[in-house]
Amino acid sequence: MKPTVFIDRQIPAEVEAFIAEHCIIDKWDEKTPMTRQQLLLKMASANGLLTAGAKIDAELIEHAPHLKVVSSISVGYNHFDLEAMRTRGIIGTNTPHVLNDTVADLALALILGTARRVAELDRYVKDGKWKTGDGVKLFGKDVHHAKLGIIGMGRIGEAVARRARFGFDMDVVYYNRSRKPEAEEQLGVRYFELNDLLAYSDFVLLLAPLTPETVKLIGATEFKLMKPSAIFINISRGQTVDEQALIEALEQGTISAAGLDVFEKEPIEADHPFLTMANVLTLPHIGSATSDTRFDMAMLAAQNLVNALTGQVPPNVVDELL
Ligand code: NAP
Repeated sequence: MKPTVFIDRQIPAEVEAFIAEHCIIDKWDEKTPMTRQQLLLKMASANGLLTAGAKIDAELIEHAPHLKVVSSISVGYNHFDLEAMRTRGIIGTNTPHVLNDTVADLALALILGTARRVAELDRYVKDGKWKTGDGVKLFGKDVHHAKLGIIGMGRIGEAVARRARFGFDMDVVYYNRSRKPEAEEQLGVRYFELNDLLAYSDFVLLLAPLTPETVKLIGATEFKLMKPSAIFINISRGQTVDEQALIEALEQGTISAAGLDVFEKEPIEADHPFLTMANVLTLPHIGSATSDTRFDMAMLAAQNLVNALTGQVPPNVVDELL
């Protein structure tokens, strides 16, 4: 008998058809996102779950007596309670690699967008404020030949570094817990300790995954180490930054601007201070959000799911659950 899988979101028809060859599908077809309670009820009969951000914790696992695999359509898996999954022997998979270039493109969009004030000046023009002689008021910062510090030089970090080095002649430095000699050689990037990177960089890009170790990795102390002219970009997860400290750093001129794809609470509240700050470029967590890449991610997640349920090794079991 085929295993049963629950799919908690819309996925491309082709991906669904592939899963249907191997599994019985139960799925959330409503336009509105499902509630936690609805998801817990669905877990009663599921052998597999295809999701992107549902919290997989002891409570969900308790409601899922037959669950064998959770396949996430994302590279980040901070929504997995790894200990709870390990205890029950549940396989957890993610979708690395296929999104590297798309997310790296977005990192560059945020770097360029903040440096040249693209969204702010678009509004300026459309609001009819552009006058002859505005000149200096519209100046931004150069990206080419500037210093870029990448915190979390992994798969996506390397794709950003390649663009920055060879596309914009940037001086790229990075910080990880471990050095990457191959990347240093191939990309011409240099390893700096975190505090040195913060003090050196014109652009600080945060790309480390959200783990217990990286919660609020960047806070008031780190912003004070940055240059007053520095631009901070976050495309990792909102919780890797102390958001209140970032607001204060931007208000007090400790740093000059920020480009953010991720926030502590998503979607962001309508009265959030970022929304009225001209020096903050905000995006709705769209790092990997292109049609082609989201298709590839969904297909890879489907492959992970089906493999785990048909006795084959899934291509992308997350490291901590291997
Ligand atoms: P990856 O290949 O695993 O790279 C992560 C890098 O972070 C590794 O090189 C790792 O090196 C470093 N790292 C881990 N813990 C660290 C710590 N405590 N301090 C400093 N560095 C640390 O992951 P990836 O595929 O590049 O993805 C990175 C993250 O990007 C994801 O986890 C996700 O949160 C985020 N992301 C966001 C979007 C979006 O839509 N905005 C899209 C995709 C991904 P060491 O182990 O040597 O420290």
